[in-house]
Amino acid sequence: MEKSPAGPETGKDIFYMREAILEAKAALEEGEIPVGAVIVREGEIIGRGHNTTEQDGDPTAHAEINAIRQAGRYLRETLSWRRLTGCEIYVTMEPCSMCAGALVWARLESVCAGVPDPKAGGCGSVLNIIAEERLNHQGQYRALEECPEKDTCRDMLQDFFRELRSKPKWQNRHIKSEEDIK
Ligand code: ZN
Repeated sequence: MEKSPAGPETGKDIFYMREAILEAKAALEEGEIPVGAVIVREGEIIGRGHNTTEQDGDPTAHAEINAIRQAGRYLRETLSWRRLTGCEIYVTMEPCSMCAGALVWARLESVCAGVPDPKAGGCGSVLNIIAEERLNHQGQYRALEECPEKDTCRDMLQDFFRELRSKPKWQNRHIKSEEDIK
């Protein structure tokens, strides 16, 4: 695998990460864990997604999976492609092992993440699926290093979990819904 480019992010990175942050904010408004993603091909956003695991009752409905599905449908309709070759994904948090695996299956070229996920990251923090050379495809991975967008990605998540912990459990549908308590 080619070594991921390190160092300051470019204006392009910041532009697309802001779009991913808009998706994370949409997740927050829907009471979901605030993670968002956009998929870019030749400068155009062809897929967007945010976490919808609670509302869909689908543990796999992570931001990256939702964005991959949208981009996949677009590429099938416009180019009859089955994969996301040559595409980049911008996601506010390091993809988990499931999403990193999906990105490999989709043949994504590169992943730019806002913050690392030391508990579940599949791009180097826990596992490094995206760079696993025993798989038949590897993507480039880099995390934002210097730009303020990194702080926004992290703060949204920290605020969300802080508020979650401050509520009684019965008020929190991420743990148990109010209806379940009755
Ligand atoms: Zn994931």
